[in-house]
Amino acid sequence: VIEARGVRKRFGDHDVLRGIDLSVGTHEVVVLIGASGSGKSTLLKTMNLIENIDDGQIFLVGEDITDPRVDADGVRARIGVVFQHFNLFPHLTVLDNVTLAAVRVHGMRKAEARAKARELLETLGLGAKADEYPDRLSGGQQQRVAIVRAVLTQPEVLLLDEITSALDPQLVGEVLDLVRELKRQGATIVMATHEMSFAREVADRIVFLEHGVVVEQGPPSQVFDAPQEAATAEFLARVR
Ligand code: ATP
Ligand code: MG
Repeated sequence: VIEARGVRKRFGDHDVLRGIDLSVGTHEVVVLIGASGSGKSTLLKTMNLIENIDDGQIFLVGEDITDPRVDADGVRARIGVVFQHFNLFPHLTVLDNVTLAAVRVHGMRKAEARAKARELLETLGLGAKADEYPDRLSGGQQQRVAIVRAVLTQPEVLLLDEITSALDPQLVGEVLDLVRELKRQGATIVMATHEMSFAREVADRIVFLEHGVVVEQGPPSQVFDAPQEAATAEFLARVR
């Protein structure tokens, strides 16, 4: 679905991504792990065209989205994104937050978007919150609303960056449950996380980044239990 080929990104004289190759298949859940500063967020941002790249290419369903002639907004509309901090608009109700982009960017009919949003919120136990403002919701509820917003238009790929790291531990579970459910429904997900136990459970493939390079990747059982590279073992020993 989405593929990075030889992606390089530099900030000033700092090489943050140093030739990333990563191909994510349909219904696949790929989890990026690695130390702070290894380039996980930057890679996700290049995939959503928030950051431009210095070299390489990124393909979305076979189309080179890093080609300068490409319609970046059109590409972004096909990708769902949720970041660490809840990006809800405080002055809009939950329902308006969830449906705004679907209507404005995707041209979904308002009534349809609202009906679909209510249904999704209902299934997540957030139905009663639809007409509330975000500050009346817990952090975990806000983050689930952000995820509902990202999936409302059925994006081709979902990019999730540390979506639980701003949450109190007791709220992490409900957000992770939602990711599990999206996986069950067949979503294609690229996710960066520091939650190793969750990564092991939900990932089809773990990708370990160090200094902007993919050092090792494979199924969770392999990467976590029998890492092939010393750098992977050292990282895991530090975080566990
Ligand atoms: P974390 O686990 O802390 O989220 P990360 O793996 O997501 O880390 P990135 O946020 O991708 O790491 O950052 C990689 C490197 O790029 C860091 O050294 C960071 O300081 C640098 N960097 C990221 N964004 C910018 C920017 N806009 N300008 C300059 N440097 C940046
Ligand atoms: Mg990050």
